[in-house]
Amino acid sequence: MTNWPLDPVETAQALIRCESVTPVEGGALSALEGWLAPLGFACERMPFTDDGTPDVDNLFARAGSPNAGPHICFAGHTDVVPIGNRADWKHGPFDADIADGILYGRGTVDMKGAIAAFVAASAAYVTETGEDLPGAISFLITGDEEGPSVNGTKKMLPLLAERGERFDACIVGEPTNPDAMGDMIKIGRRGSLNGVLTVNGIQGHVAYPERADNPVHNILPLLNALVQEPLDDGHPHFPPSSLQATSIDVGNMTTNLIPAKAEARFNVRFNANFDSAKLETEIRRRLDAVGQPYSLKVAVSGESFVTEPGPLTETVAKAVEAVSGRRPEFSTTGGTSDARFIKDYCPVVELGLISATAHQVDEHVATADITALAETYLEVLHDFFKASS
Ligand SMILES: [Zn+2]
Repeated sequence: MTNWPLDPVETAQALIRCESVTPVEGGALSALEGWLAPLGFACERMPFTDDGTPDVDNLFARAGSPNAGPHICFAGHTDVVPIGNRADWKHGPFDADIADGILYGRGTVDMKGAIAAFVAASAAYVTETGEDLPGAISFLITGDEEGPSVNGTKKMLPLLAERGERFDACIVGEPTNPDAMGDMIKIGRRGSLNGVLTVNGIQGHVAYPERADNPVHNILPLLNALVQEPLDDGHPHFPPSSLQATSIDVGNMTTNLIPAKAEARFNVRFNANFDSAKLETEIRRRLDAVGQPYSLKVAVSGESFVTEPGPLTETVAKAVEAVSGRRPEFSTTGGTSDARFIKDYCPVVELGLISATAHQVDEHVATADITALAETYLEVLHDFFKASS
């Protein structure tokens, strides 16, 4: 059992008591600086502004030299989603009550518990190692993950890179376990693309179709061309890419009118066989083959990515196994996270708490799970620096 210089559960409680609903800092970044600076971390606020989005404060903290030895980064967010109706909570959302070994509060699993666990692990590691770290440990903490995600990780990374900051590995602390610690780590995510397909026709009377051109009829073969063949038959780490039509809109309430325009919407969740450009090319190839005029607009909400199993995934999986006794599944399920930005800079793996109550009323986690996660992160640090020394 580790003797924690900073107790992971008390650290989590202190963070939960900061009312940091996006985009409010709520004292959460200051609390982190209060723990990290005495451990030798150089702390820097990185506030950003952008048109049409709230200003957000962020924190980058690094211990050790960026140029001597490998650099591992922990990425997370201190912002939390709103509490909903306060009266629905049995335990105050910012009270950090513990009852029967369960810690309650907004952000316990998503993801202040994980941040506290990595702070505790870093404190333990730095205390063991003394001043001469065999490399660098950093915290990339944003206050803009649950919001527009414009003034956070996405802007911090290029600025840090420009200054010569290099990362060799990154752990994102999102809650990755569906039911129990040891279930799952995430090694990638699917991409998401939205499309709007429009067909223009000639409006007219249904009794005189020869004088009209019916866009409802003309959009059907186009839509059919998109869905009749699968996009692929899967990838070693992903299910097959999936195109789902989500709407066909004509907006015509009249029984005797051929409308002037029809519009269909669809979403594609795509695996690492595609990037969005290749996917759009394939979509247009299928539409062009129909031989009818159309217009198409696409918007990409995230590219697919995978960190191929290798040294980092093995380090993390071994640490999970050492603490939980279970080999975690390598998964690419779920929605997006800031890992989608980090993957352009270094290999990234996500490992955190149990996701079951994330964003819910009475969000909670077993205090033993926070300690287990801190033990796991400490194992990761040991193995990461040992493997590369
Ligand atoms: Zn989260």
